[in-house]
Amino acid sequence: MNIAFIGLGNMGSPMASNLVKAGHDVTVFDLVESAMQALESEGAKRAESAEAAAKGAEVIISMLPAGVHVKSLYLGRDGGPGLLESLESKPLIIDASTISPEDAREVAAAAKERGVTWLDAPVSGGVGGAKAGALTFIVGGSAEGFEQARPVLEAMGKNIFHAGENGAGQVAKICNNMLLGILMSGTAEALALGVKNGMDPAVLSEIMKQSSGGNWALNVYNPWPGVMEGSAASRDYQGGFLTDLMAKDLGLAWELALGSKSTVPMGSQARNLFALHSAQGSGSLDFSSIQKLYREGE
Ligand code: NAD
Repeated sequence: MNIAFIGLGNMGSPMASNLVKAGHDVTVFDLVESAMQALESEGAKRAESAEAAAKGAEVIISMLPAGVHVKSLYLGRDGGPGLLESLESKPLIIDASTISPEDAREVAAAAKERGVTWLDAPVSGGVGGAKAGALTFIVGGSAEGFEQARPVLEAMGKNIFHAGENGAGQVAKICNNMLLGILMSGTAEALALGVKNGMDPAVLSEIMKQSSGGNWALNVYNPWPGVMEGSAASRDYQGGFLTDLMAKDLGLAWELALGSKSTVPMGSQARNLFALHSAQGSGSLDFSSIQKLYREGE
């Protein structure tokens, strides 16, 4: 298929790369020149703008940081036209960014007015999952759109869920990431407590993995440096899933809770921890660097 891919960051680059490997004709665009060059060397074509990338595309995929970027891409900014306005055909649009359900519904409705199907399809699985083509896609949108998207998503992911109508993909993703934020900070807290009381973090990790405290953060994303080979913690928390993005997702969970009069005491605690960690200068480190917050004064 002829696919336009917009947003080649930590996640978008390996996702676009897997589409190229699956034999799709991929045209990429990012604001960062080096990211486009890397994809070009893998066989993708590069475009000078999102509009140019989308020209002639049957499918457009975007993987951007936050709602503000997604809205400005599709709807325009400062009175300027957005990508939806410039479309000459009716491609299927899949936005894989994590944004608020309201923003997703707003862009989907604007697309529908032009007869274009727009899906919110946030992902789970991290950079490791993106590289391995093993992401979980959580899709919100029409059943027909979901079936149309499935073969494309299968080139980048293993578990493809239809969560419901537009926005439902984001609701499910935000619930998941609130839980992840809680689990990562809880895991970091437990490890710091054990180490302060004489435990080897690797030994403690192994014990908890085989015990009732085992969880995804501990099992595949250990936040203590040196415990897990290849983890973000073992490369000085570079790359991965940034603290600022986790803080954004916990903020989305907070907004969702406010809007639905839900109580999220654990999610609020996690939001405050990641916001504090970001304010202390760790926004661009992987989110597992929350471990550092528990190691101050060591
Ligand atoms: P990132 O910051 O690494 O990448 C975002 C990319 O978008 C950057 O390369 C940036 O230059 C580009 N960009 C921004 N505005 C643009 C525009 N107008 N046109 C073209 N390119 C533009 O972020 P990421 O880690 O790849 O995450 C992307 C999304 O996926 C976020 O919503 C994040 O919450 C979500 N997510 C991330 C992970 C993870 O582990 N990193 C996991 C699941 C979901």
